[in-house]
Amino acid sequence: MTSFSDLKITRQYQNALEELGFEKPTPIQIKAIPAIRSGQHVIGIAQTGTGKTAAYLLPIFHKIGYAKGTAARCIIIVPSKELVVQLVEQVTELTPYTDIRYVGIYGGVGRKAQAKAIHEGADIIISTPRRLLELYEKEHIQLNKVETMVLDEADRMMDMGFRGQINAILEVVPTKKQNLLFSATFSARVEELSWNFMDFPVKIEITPEATPVETVEQVRYDVPNFLSKIRLLQHLLADEESFHRIIVFVKTKKTANAVFNALSFIASEQKRLIHSNKGQNTRINAFKDFKEGKIRIMISTDVMARGIDIKDISHVINFDVPTVYEDYVHRIGRTGRAFRTGAAITFVTKADKYHVKKIEEKIRMFIPNRLIPESVEITETPFHENQEMERAIDQQKIKDDPNFKGAFHEKKSYKSKIKQKKTKRPPKYTGKTNSGYISKTKKVKRSSKKGRHKK
Ligand code: ADP
Ligand code: MG
Repeated sequence: MTSFSDLKITRQYQNALEELGFEKPTPIQIKAIPAIRSGQHVIGIAQTGTGKTAAYLLPIFHKIGYAKGTAARCIIIVPSKELVVQLVEQVTELTPYTDIRYVGIYGGVGRKAQAKAIHEGADIIISTPRRLLELYEKEHIQLNKVETMVLDEADRMMDMGFRGQINAILEVVPTKKQNLLFSATFSARVEELSWNFMDFPVKIEITPEATPVETVEQVRYDVPNFLSKIRLLQHLLADEESFHRIIVFVKTKKTANAVFNALSFIASEQKRLIHSNKGQNTRINAFKDFKEGKIRIMISTDVMARGIDIKDISHVINFDVPTVYEDYVHRIGRTGRAFRTGAAITFVTKADKYHVKKIEEKIRMFIPNRLIPESVEITETPFHENQEMERAIDQQKIKDDPNFKGAFHEKKSYKSKIKQKKTKRPPKYTGKTNSGYISKTKKVKRSSKKGRHKK
C-alpha cells in the first residue's frame, strides 16, 4: 500500500496531512504526484471527490519550496468564486508549516484589496479566468515568472464558456512552464483545450468517465408535478435526523425561490438559497455556513454543482433532473465524498424520464425507483404544467426521430383527451416494496384533497 512518505512528501506536509486525517493517498494522488514532481505536463481525470486538489497542490508546494520574490510562480485557474474560496481554504490547511504565500482572487468584488494582496507578494495565485485577466490588464499582476499553471475543473470551465479567456491567459504567460489540467470528465472540449495548453502531456485517468462514486446510494421517485414534488420534499426533510445536511438542486432561479418559499415550515436559520442572482457575499456566506454545519438545507442551482467540497452531506436531492447529464454526476458527487457514504434522491416527472434514461446510460447504472410514501399528498397536475411536459416529451421524440410529427401539436382534441384522462378512476396501488414501479405518471393522478390509498 502506497503511503504519502512513499510519494516523497516531506515531513512538514505529512504532518499537515496527518492533522487533516488523510491516512493514505487516493488513487489519483498516487499516480499524479510522482508524474507532476518529475516535471511532466499532466492531465488528471478522476471522478468528483477523489482528491484531485491535493494531487496537484502537494507537488506544487514542493516545487515552490518557500516564499520568494513578489511575482507569482504558480497560477491556478478555476471556474467559480466558490471554488477559489474553497481552494484557498485547502491551501491553508495544507501549508501550516511553510511560509508559502497565496492569494485567491475573483470577480464581483472590488479589485483594490486583491491588487494589494498581490503586490505584497504571492507565490501562488488562485483565480477565476476573468478576474486574472482584469488585474493583469491593469498591471496588478506580473505573469512572466509563472512556472506552473493549473486549469482545474476544466470541463466546467469549458461548459461555462471560458474558452476565450483561457486562451487570452495563455497568450500572456510564459510558454515554457509546467502545465496541469484536472477535470472530472474528459469531454471533447476538454481534450481540445488540452491540445492548446500542453505538449506531450501524460494522461492519468482513474475511472471511466462519469462513474458515480460507489458510496452514493441512488434512488428516484416518480412524481407527477411541481406541487407533489414540494409535498414529497417536505415529507423527506421532516426527518431531521437522517436528513441532516442536504443540497436541493433545482433547474432555475425561479424554482429555487419557489422551493425556498415552500419550505416555510423549516426555520429560516436552517435553510439558505444560492444562485447566480444572489450577491457575492450572500453566496460566499451561505456556502461557508453550510460547510460549517450552521445551516441544514441548501437550495441551489448548478452554480454549486461542481467541485465544491462539503463534508458529510447526507443527501443530495435533485428536485429537477439535470438535462446536462454530466451535472448529475457532479451533483451527486457532493455526497459520499472521500470514503463516506451518502444518498442521492432524484424526482422524476414524465417529461424527465427521457433524461433519466440517458443518465442511466451514461453512468452505466440503474437508478432504482422508490414509491412515494402514502402520507404524501399527490396533487393533480395543472393544465399548463401538463402541457409544458407534453411539449417537452414531443421535443425529445423529435430529437430522437426528426420525422416525428409531435403528438402535442398534431392533436387538436388535446384538451378533451386530458379531460378524459382526468375522469378515469385512479388505479389501485399494488406495489409495496422499493422495487415497485409507478409506470406512468398519469396513473398517480388522484383527487387532491383526499390523499391516496383510500380503501
Ligand atoms: P476533487 O477535486 O477530486 O473533486 P477534492 O480534492 O475536493 O476532490 O477532495 C475531496 C475531499 O476529499 C476533500 O474533503 C479532501 O479534503 C478529501 N481528501 C483528499 N485527499 C484525501 C486523502 N488522501 N484522504 C482522505 N481524504 C482526502
Ligand atoms: Mg476539484
